[in-house]
Amino acid sequence: MFQDFLTLLFPGTCALCDQGLSRGEDLICLKCIHQFPRYQNDLNRDEIYLHFIESYRYEGFYAYLKFYKKGITQKLLHQIKYNRMPVLGEKIGYLFGLEMMGINGALKIDLVVPVPLHRRKKKKRGYNQSDFFARGLAKGLGTRWSDTEIRRTVNNETQTDKSRQERIENVAGIFSVVRHENLLNKHILLVDDVITTGATLESCAAAILDAVSCRISLAALAVAK
Ligand SMILES: [Zn+2]
Repeated sequence: MFQDFLTLLFPGTCALCDQGLSRGEDLICLKCIHQFPRYQNDLNRDEIYLHFIESYRYEGFYAYLKFYKKGITQKLLHQIKYNRMPVLGEKIGYLFGLEMMGINGALKIDLVVPVPLHRRKKKKRGYNQSDFFARGLAKGLGTRWSDTEIRRTVNNETQTDKSRQERIENVAGIFSVVRHENLLNKHILLVDDVITTGATLESCAAAILDAVSCRISLAALAVAK
């Protein structure tokens, strides 16, 4: 309550451009939001989109932003992951969830599930940024989310500087389903933060589809370009 009052009097500065926030703005300013490089704009020409859709394993693939080195999405991700601003990830998820409903009002997701970090990595960072993104998405979609259905059993090294084939091999079999009954016959939206080849997201989806009869859609906060 007191915090709300303070936020009303002193909305603070935008986490992306450092300009003062106006009343009604929260964490980031509207100008920055309007500058986001949207993934939706070149959907049908995108390699990752075509790869997922043409595999016929998934109900759909959704991504909010395009990720370029030194671009606004990189700054956003940096704030979320390393500057201890996971609530910013939740806000982005919420905006994205509302937009997904705007594009496809008939979309019915039963459960939003974030790709898990290994518990040691999560402990080190303090949180999994994808959990917050998933929570915001679920709120925007008007559905539930859960971070306890899947486990990452291998704390694998970073995927940077690996070829597509090496990435696929690096993440094969590193996820397992914890509670099958919670996923059975559901339409699950499996979400990750940034994807490059989508190998991690696909490995996680494969672990679920191999273990449980269910439908899966995929989502990412951003796709690297
Ligand atoms: Zn701004």
